[in-house]
Amino acid sequence: MFSRVGGKSLEPFSSLNISLAVGDNPETVCTNRQSILNTLGLPRLVAVKQVHGDKILLVGNQHSYAEAKGYDAMICNLAGVGLLIQQADCQAILLHDPVKSVIAAIHCGWRGSVADIITKTISALNSHFAVNPADLHAAISPSLGPCCAEFVNFASELPAWMHAYQPTPAHFDFWAISSKQLTNSGVLKEHIDVAGICTKCNQSYFSFRRAKKDGNVITGRNGSIIGLPLMGGGTVAEQTIHVSPTIQTKDVSPPSQRPPTAGQSGQNKPIIQQVNYYKAKLYFEIDSWDLAEAIRAGKPVVIIDTRCKEAFDLEHIPGAISFPHREITEESTANLDSSALYVTYCDGIGCNASTKGALRLATYGFKVKELLGGLDWWRRDGYETEGRNAASGTAGLSG
Ligand SMILES: [Zn+2]
Repeated sequence: MFSRVGGKSLEPFSSLNISLAVGDNPETVCTNRQSILNTLGLPRLVAVKQVHGDKILLVGNQHSYAEAKGYDAMICNLAGVGLLIQQADCQAILLHDPVKSVIAAIHCGWRGSVADIITKTISALNSHFAVNPADLHAAISPSLGPCCAEFVNFASELPAWMHAYQPTPAHFDFWAISSKQLTNSGVLKEHIDVAGICTKCNQSYFSFRRAKKDGNVITGRNGSIIGLPLMGGGTVAEQTIHVSPTIQTKDVSPPSQRPPTAGQSGQNKPIIQQVNYYKAKLYFEIDSWDLAEAIRAGKPVVIIDTRCKEAFDLEHIPGAISFPHREITEESTANLDSSALYVTYCDGIGCNASTKGALRLATYGFKVKELLGGLDWWRRDGYETEGRNAASGTAGLSG
């Protein structure tokens, strides 16, 4: 469970904002998220677009960068995956079953409490992974405390049984309410940890209610994350990467954008080089798991140059297709292969085209990775490029 301290975001998101949905710079958010993953030694992060509902996502290898819409809980038995809850006064409730090696992360505001998403998540853990609730360990994150959880309309908003949880009139103890829901579901009282920190009182946390009181409804989100550690020690890249020599890129661009490949001699060579290149650079990636899995499963990996067409014509990575980020729309992606993994790149750090392209592709539901550093690293490491200026080594234009 992370406070708002220690990230890179600027006001009003300073500084460890982990939400892509509040208007913060997406690259900064990705940097913040990556530093959380680094801190925990997790290679992969899964988050969802939370809606104060009660739907539960069973997290598989297909979930990653793009946040699945409409879920408020995630359950998972995959090692190395961090389940991220984004909250500013709501609770994150993190669950771990050390017997079955299964985890869950729940976003729970008062609507989640009313919908009893806690009980629903625990029964999903039971039906998917045969989890015995008595084995579960639960942690309740910093969130709005009984000092500040005032509900003037509680008679209509909260069910009668919750009315007993008012330490002072119209103020509710949702830490106790969640604990009650946990024990009702079979979690042992001694297995429940409550942080007991009120996000509105404690300035180290983002608080929606405090921001609103200060006349600003825009604020960041605190991150609470749980993940099963990768087993066996070693580095993330060593554990997750196995490169198949048979990987091929698949050209899914409109015909007018396709680079000439038919009849080229040694066509496989640059492609294998690229895979090795990405393998070496995976430490820098937001999420290396997808690329590793896609390669292992023999899925198509499509390398996309998201700069402008002029830059691509001058110089690009062999085998890449040109798809400028500004042209990535719902219509232009309609015929893209949804089973492929898309790797976006641009000039290098400082050129945002790969991030913009990755975010757009992710928005339209594609699996996507960003090759941070892009063409700069490719050149610096002495790989050949293609394009009009490639032979002379002239740098391309920014996208
Ligand atoms: Zn408080």
